[in-house]
Amino acid sequence: MEDYDSPRLRRRTRNKYTGYLEQERGTVYKEPGGRIRIGLIWPGPYETGQSSLGFLSVYSLINVQPRVYAERIFQPEPGQAPLSLETQSPLEAFDLLAASLTLENDYWIFLDILIKGRINPDRADRRGEPMVFAGGVGVWSNPWPVIPFLDLIMLGEAEIQWPQIVEHYLDVSFALTPKAGKLKILSEKVPGVLIPSLWPEEVLKGEAPLAEPVRPAVLKWPPKGYYPPVSPIVTPNTELGERRLVEISRGCPYGCRFCLAGVLYRPHRPWPKSKIIYVLGRPRLKNDMVGLVSPAVADHPEIESLLEILASQNREVSVSSLRLSSLTENLTRRLLAAGVKGLAVAPEAGSQRLRDSINKTLNEEEILGSCRLLSEGGLRRLKLYFMLGLPGETDEDIRSIAELCRKIKKAVQTKSFAPKLILSVANFTPKPQTPFEFVPMLTESELKRRGQILREAAVKVGGLELKLDPPIWSVVQGMLARGGAEASNLVRCLQAEHGRCRPAFRRFRAAYSEDHRHRDYERYLFSENWPRDRYKPWRVVAVSAGPDFLENEYRRSLADAVSPACPPGLACGCCGSCGFSRKND
Ligand code: SF4
Repeated sequence: MEDYDSPRLRRRTRNKYTGYLEQERGTVYKEPGGRIRIGLIWPGPYETGQSSLGFLSVYSLINVQPRVYAERIFQPEPGQAPLSLETQSPLEAFDLLAASLTLENDYWIFLDILIKGRINPDRADRRGEPMVFAGGVGVWSNPWPVIPFLDLIMLGEAEIQWPQIVEHYLDVSFALTPKAGKLKILSEKVPGVLIPSLWPEEVLKGEAPLAEPVRPAVLKWPPKGYYPPVSPIVTPNTELGERRLVEISRGCPYGCRFCLAGVLYRPHRPWPKSKIIYVLGRPRLKNDMVGLVSPAVADHPEIESLLEILASQNREVSVSSLRLSSLTENLTRRLLAAGVKGLAVAPEAGSQRLRDSINKTLNEEEILGSCRLLSEGGLRRLKLYFMLGLPGETDEDIRSIAELCRKIKKAVQTKSFAPKLILSVANFTPKPQTPFEFVPMLTESELKRRGQILREAAVKVGGLELKLDPPIWSVVQGMLARGGAEASNLVRCLQAEHGRCRPAFRRFRAAYSEDHRHRDYERYLFSENWPRDRYKPWRVVAVSAGPDFLENEYRRSLADAVSPACPPGLACGCCGSCGFSRKND
């Protein structure tokens, strides 16, 4: 193995990082000596890490504390050593390493950074510091694939947990406590944390359920004393350019049945406009271009007046994603006047039947009408998100994706102009904690077959840029998403194969195909529904939208029945995320 500690590799990384730092605005510089040092690991390159508001807001949350210094650690390029960005320190220099784990397919990169950073990846063999923590949607939904590598898993929202963790770390007696004692204190004091080393052996082996699943820590609304997360650092070295990202709402009022974030971040919580304008008005931020971040930007109750204020401040705006049915003529005009040039929208399925089944409550008239509105307003690029392999999908449903795109293409064609249409098609992978957590996913060969149907149909429409996820990549994601104790071995295989899915999958299968757990697991991944009475590893996490609600939504999907969005006042009691549950009909 390459000696990642060599001066030559470190020099390469230092040169690269100096270049990044020179182009940043907002970097935090502190003298590391005498401070608690926290290394924030992003399992990917600098450019994607700098586009993650979640990752950057943790950086701010920790660095407000003067006696603590948080630095960023990214995936090093081949032939470079994993060092922190700010001080180019090795991983061993930190008291605590904390990874942001959102996508299952990034887990191997996190493991790779630990190994190349000379940190023993296995929690059970790691003595003393640094301790290794992780948070993010991926581990929040199911931590099992990375449990052997972590001392502590943060379930829920960072604003609640990080200040408490930092407070304990600053307590001298805590600092002098051995590792096991520290973890015990954190498990008692910090809400929504999982500490595998405190679990009974049979639970760790996946042979018994956890007696008390852990409830994630979720910010109550209205959030007194809290402000919307805003990216502390801007740099030209990201896809978004020098844009200041700000969260305008959390959660989504619509319950698409495949959507994990839609369940985890319930209920829909819009930040008050006054607080958004306040954080964007801070001296260092007040002239920056702005990126509005939310799963449903157009559903923010004050979106139009917010855009009006930003336009009056001559600030160029972009938005993360938009729900077509919430688009009005006035909002379209405001968005385009604020400089929005490209948009991503998500019809997800081509046929109305399948959209109803996944609870994507959008009809064709709304889709075509909103696309026409955007094009007439001058939109340049329209990215259309679709999914392949959804439960109940037929070959006809796949062809109807192309048919819908034919109609969209016609609708957006104005006399002189038509926006570029990009089809971004993901393969459906069942996610834990969602109404589809029971259903099997398609095999690689079947995903390929369906992808070919779509490719041929899209060619006939013409003028569409089609991006399809590689099926093997989705199969690996599907295996990790609902994986139990055995899934960490797939992460090790991916790390050993530098992320190459096929050889990793082959290696995993070869090593574990004799293991009965694995055989059953593949059966429920690819061919049969996960039996209701069968142990679900991800139930170590108790999300607020409970199993009854998920089961009921699944039954409704079988009947192609839609469910209403969260009512404006919330608190309908339907899923239990507003603090109480009423019986589902
Ligand atoms: S209880 Fe009702 S309003 Fe609240 S998140 Fe659930 S479905 Fe939405």
